[in-house]
Amino acid sequence: VKEAVLGPLVGAVDQGTSSTRFLVFNSKTAELLSHHQVEIKQEFPREGWVEQDPKEILQSVYECIEKTCEKLRELNIDISYIKAIGVSNQRETTVVWDKLTGEPLYNALVWLDLRTQPTVDCLRRRIPGNNNFVKSKTGLPISTYFSAVKLRWLLDHVRNVRKAVQEGRALFGTIDSWLIWSLTGGAKGGVHCTDVTNASRTMLFNIHSLEWDKELCDFFGVPMAILPNVRSCSEIYGLMKAGALEGVPISGCLGDQSAALVGQMCFRDGQAKNTYGTGCFLLCNTGHKCVFSDHGLLTTVAYKLGRDKPVYYALEGSVAIAGAVIRWLRDNLGIISTSEEIERLAKEVGTSYGCYFVPAFSGLYAPYWEPSARGIICGLTQFTNKCHIAFAALEAVCFQTREILEAMNRDCGIPLSHLQVDGGMTSNKILMQLQADILYIPVVKPSMPETTALGAAMAAGAAEGVGVWSLEPEDLSAVTMERFEPQINADESEIRYSTWKKAVMKSIGWATT
Ligand code: ADP
Repeated sequence: VKEAVLGPLVGAVDQGTSSTRFLVFNSKTAELLSHHQVEIKQEFPREGWVEQDPKEILQSVYECIEKTCEKLRELNIDISYIKAIGVSNQRETTVVWDKLTGEPLYNALVWLDLRTQPTVDCLRRRIPGNNNFVKSKTGLPISTYFSAVKLRWLLDHVRNVRKAVQEGRALFGTIDSWLIWSLTGGAKGGVHCTDVTNASRTMLFNIHSLEWDKELCDFFGVPMAILPNVRSCSEIYGLMKAGALEGVPISGCLGDQSAALVGQMCFRDGQAKNTYGTGCFLLCNTGHKCVFSDHGLLTTVAYKLGRDKPVYYALEGSVAIAGAVIRWLRDNLGIISTSEEIERLAKEVGTSYGCYFVPAFSGLYAPYWEPSARGIICGLTQFTNKCHIAFAALEAVCFQTREILEAMNRDCGIPLSHLQVDGGMTSNKILMQLQADILYIPVVKPSMPETTALGAAMAAGAAEGVGVWSLEPEDLSAVTMERFEPQINADESEIRYSTWKKAVMKSIGWATT
């Protein structure tokens, strides 16, 4: 196949909590040509701790790139047509590494990790005069979720990290920084950078001035010298230094939820999308305005697609556990052997039979921000079986989405008329139908579900000096959608939702922090 026929290609690394993918798109048509995916191990060394191996993550990226390139060759597509690479990644997850050896100094602390709760409690007590000090600068509540407290923990508890900081050898980064630094040469001249979306999840970044904030760094006790340079989401950061795509520029970088917002073409004020992966994240574009929530939502940087382009903000409803509950049923209870099997179980019964499952494994995020919550399954009877529990797990994802959607509607004033969705779980049709029933609005899913990768590819292809992708919305009007309409009556939907709320109240207060 000739490049002139096909059009220039753009690759995207999608490094998620569950898996890593590399995908290659045709920049003319946004068509997905080939991809490869590798599941990532999660380690739970103690109750509440969640770690990943940064080297395994990097290796998985190389493996996905190599395998995808092989698949392209089999399709008779020359990999030299790939003109740029974008990176999108699980956000907040924290890595510190040695810039001289390229070795991580500890495992990555994953966003879901709860070990920093005592640090959070202590910091909350130390907040200077103005209670809104952190939130007004960062858009975030002080929580275990964000990177600053994870970095604080590493500095406090890992001697090697402290030593490397003192000796000027330590670099900090979220997964995007770790990957871009490693892919652009690592210890032999890697570029230490991040983008505004990932930076906005660290709790060290001022979302108004778009710079690291000295006052915040002092508050969290973080040395500014170890922080990466903050760049826009669409510009050339550096070139790939190894592997099949050596020499190709890396020119797009967005946290996964921002990338999905871009990939779903939510470029206008009021447009929103909900992504169902390990967690569930509803983001609504608020344009150039920083809107602060009265209902437990976060304010975050949506994207900045070029050095001289304006910044866009989003309101975000974050749910910690969505697909993770399915993985838990697979790995911890063993009632399914693949994630897909959950659909068959749920379909067998078509109801939870009064069983409610609140998967508050990591406390509750939006709209509650309740670290003391823990998971509960309630309403069990002698009749309950694994199919009902499977159904309740899917319903839990839908109820949690309804809670963040209601918060979003209250903050924005204009209720969403439909919900645009994407992410790994959206291949589950029962889930999608349940979601429409529980929200009582249509759920709309693009037929190409890899919107996170698409967003990163678009940013990379549109970068100055690459210029193979135009971000004009009309380019993308051909995107086809699948629609799920509500099928149950509104009363039934309300009753189920109010029982869910009762179950949530029971989940709160289990953990003593
Ligand atoms: P992430 O970006 O967080 O890595 P993905 O978007 O790749 O997540 O989605 C993976 C998650 O979706 C996993 O937690 C998995 O358990 C869940 N999942 C995958 N397929 C299904 C399915 N058919 N039904 C329900 N959940 C699923």
